Amino acid sequence: MPLAENLRETLQRIENAAEQAKRPRPRLLAVSKTQATPAVAMLAAAGQRAFGENYVQEAAIKVRDLVDFSLDWHLIGHLQSNKAELAAQVFDWVETVDRAKLITALARYRPAERAPLNVLIQVNIDDEASKHGCPPGEVPALAALIAAEPRLCLRGVMCIPTPHADIERRRPAFRQTRALFDALAAQYPQVDTLSMGMSDDMVLAIAEGSTQVRIGTALFGARPAK
Ligand SMILES: *Cc1c(COP(=O)(O)O)cnc(C)c1O
Repeated sequence: MPLAENLRETLQRIENAAEQAKRPRPRLLAVSKTQATPAVAMLAAAGQRAFGENYVQEAAIKVRDLVDFSLDWHLIGHLQSNKAELAAQVFDWVETVDRAKLITALARYRPAERAPLNVLIQVNIDDEASKHGCPPGEVPALAALIAAEPRLCLRGVMCIPTPHADIERRRPAFRQTRALFDALAAQYPQVDTLSMGMSDDMVLAIAEGSTQVRIGTALFGARPAK
């Protein structure tokens, strides 16, 4: 698998999209869920630093096996409260914080010897009943709770819009999430991350101001079945 080649192409596409949109180049988060450790190691050897995982236990094994690469690990899947303890030990970032209970648990379990855990508030921007994430109106209250926890560092917001086949129809969700991010950044100086855009909609997300795209398929190819 020409993973290093995929990485170069993806970074180039990100660069082009940012240039086109006259925006700063967003960070690439390589989404490695269900990918075997050697594939992740190959991308790490090619220079990729930030990786996203959806399942806490699966990630714990990769984090352990790849510790020598000093990678940045982001949780981008839904987090059940009973997995908060392991998540707080394993990850550098949790991008799916959407309720008060999770904030308390992550703060409680973040090991004292680690840097504060970076967190993003996941917003259910399209108000989908089936989806995780908080309603947009709850962002300020959750942000205040996070900011009050010394073991957590509030870094921004994350969204997964409804996957309309017509990509253009995802624009309002990106734009609304950007507005929430701008409001937070105006209030909290450490807020610098707007996580939005995946393989099929990253150009649009970058045009709407994403600072981090989460890319799986375009880097690794189609995912093995879980
Ligand atoms: C799987 C996943 C991605 C990556 O999706 P691709 O379409 O493979 O790029 C991004 N974000 C989240 C939250 C995911 O679960």
